Amino acid sequence: MSEQTEKPRGKFFMGAPEESEGFFEAAKDGRLLIQRCTSCGEHQFYPRKVCIHCGSSAVEWAEASGKGTVHTYTVIHQQGMPVWRDQVPYVAAIIDLEEGVRMTSNVVDVEPSDVSIGMAVEVTFVDEGMYVLPRFRPA
Ligand code: ZN
Repeated sequence: MSEQTEKPRGKFFMGAPEESEGFFEAAKDGRLLIQRCTSCGEHQFYPRKVCIHCGSSAVEWAEASGKGTVHTYTVIHQQGMPVWRDQVPYVAAIIDLEEGVRMTSNVVDVEPSDVSIGMAVEVTFVDEGMYVLPRFRPA
């Protein structure tokens, strides 16, 4: 078996691929998009064709503030894929955005030992080559 030495290539998507395009396009411009339902006003993430709160198909993109808190996290100390080995240790986290949705991401620009549950964070964007992805740093 050969070791993977390049980052995986292919299309990232969340939910249905066509619902993900706007998210990744906006990330290139440094904007964090979630969906908002124009029928009930609730937000949701990941993107879907219908509102998970009321079932309406009247969902549209809304720019999130990018502010949130660490809901939970773990520090990754071992990485089996060679292409990411030089990044350990890193923090994988679930972020509660102030709009009320949760997003899986990484906490960056901080020592992993300084991350805590409830920590205030803000979005930052990291160019990963094929994609620009939202990450979070201490606010
Ligand atoms: Zn709704």
